[in-house]
Amino acid sequence: MGAEQAYEELIRRVREEATLASIEALLEWDEETQMPAGAVEGRSEQLALVAGLLHERGTDPRLGELLGELEGSALLADPDSPAAVNVRELRRDYDRYVRLPRKLVQDLARITAVAQRAWSAARNASDFSRFRPYLERIVELKRAEAACVGYEREPYDALIEDYEPGITSAIMGRLFDALRRELVPLAARIAGAGSRPAVGMLRRAVPLEGQRRFGERVAGAVGFNFRRGRLDLGVHPCCTSLGPADCRIGLRFDLRDFAGGVLTVLHEVGHGLYEQGLDPQFYGTPMGEAASVGMDESQARLWENRVGRSRGFWQHFLPRASERFPEALGDLDLDEFYFAVNRVSPSLIRVHADEVTYNVHVMIRFELERALMSGDLAAADLPDAWSEAYQRYLGVTPANDAEGCLQDGHWAEGLIGYFPTYTLGDVFAAQLFVQARRELGNLEESFARGEFRELVRWLEERIYRQGSRYPSARLIEVVTGGPPNHRPLVEALRERYGTLYDL
Ligand code: ZN
Repeated sequence: MGAEQAYEELIRRVREEATLASIEALLEWDEETQMPAGAVEGRSEQLALVAGLLHERGTDPRLGELLGELEGSALLADPDSPAAVNVRELRRDYDRYVRLPRKLVQDLARITAVAQRAWSAARNASDFSRFRPYLERIVELKRAEAACVGYEREPYDALIEDYEPGITSAIMGRLFDALRRELVPLAARIAGAGSRPAVGMLRRAVPLEGQRRFGERVAGAVGFNFRRGRLDLGVHPCCTSLGPADCRIGLRFDLRDFAGGVLTVLHEVGHGLYEQGLDPQFYGTPMGEAASVGMDESQARLWENRVGRSRGFWQHFLPRASERFPEALGDLDLDEFYFAVNRVSPSLIRVHADEVTYNVHVMIRFELERALMSGDLAAADLPDAWSEAYQRYLGVTPANDAEGCLQDGHWAEGLIGYFPTYTLGDVFAAQLFVQARRELGNLEESFARGEFRELVRWLEERIYRQGSRYPSARLIEVVTGGPPNHRPLVEALRERYGTLYDL
């Protein structure tokens, strides 16, 4: 068999796997948005079966044969060509997958479906002890996963690698150290600043249905394609792909948090724009996928933070919001509102954190999950370790488990090693935004005119259409001319908050 035929067969197989994975995503999407609570056991069986089928196909020795035939062939002479990229990435996935026993994959799928309900009940009761046995089991299975996959230094490395190829615990540790040294003092200077925003206006009641419609308007304005995607209400904000032209965004609105709702829309739509901007001819192959979870997150955080928290964005949208909701928002002043949207204050809940302290929340989770994986921290000691970290870094202590270690559902979903991608996303987003401004000029002026197309086009060319051609760190280097670097994020924060708080 020639290389061309081998490649064709390989692509046909992975496209089928992608279709099966999209069926899995549909089951999860339905669980999140529609499924009645009583269906959880049945759903966990459906998910375990699909996970098993995916595992069977993903570990089929035929895949290994095809990859072996292609590697070293003339078809892959150019290492950045779509064929070479696809073979490189599929080899990486295959090598990881074949090391995982089917039983382990199915055990994880089954326990995490049930653990999510247990976590949710534990959080409602604010009682960690109800979730503890599930967490212990998940940590045990994730340690088994790390042992099967293999790692050089510590088990946690094997888990990060799954989301962010090339990034290790040590690299993340250094990045968090550098950020902490800048962000903790910046937050302290802000806390001691003379000026302070009036935040009462953020709590005004805006009808939920109106917020949803306004969110659709914002999504459309920045370029979300509603013929190939939908916004729906869900339990947690999320963005997921159910097929080549089916991008689903789940949103949640709060009656008394209009601005937060708009930022959530921008975050999820940022993921959606990346999804919709991927090259459709490569659907189902690595060339048609995001470069990494962190790069995907960078697109969300770019729209949420660099665009949605800018004065220019609100210069355009605040008058429209005032007009749409005259009773609640009719009398707002742009500068006062812009300051309020960017208030900074150490808090307990990550998803409500401001931009300055957000990455400290992420760092705490990184430190704790790394310790859970290494065995330095027992699950039973998690609530105390959590409180102690919050006190040490942010000066606040949770009053109970719900506002402490039960606030995020990631661990219940089996997502260990995932949190660092939030901070990588923030770091990448700031670097990309600086580069976009360098090439496109003053973007804030375009935002103030309601124009976002130029930025979307730039991202489409530089990021979306590249798919997984490069690992994330390399893509940042190709686009910005330098390696990943926390400085642009720190400078963006210093600039915005130095001006706002008159530091
Ligand atoms: Zn996100």
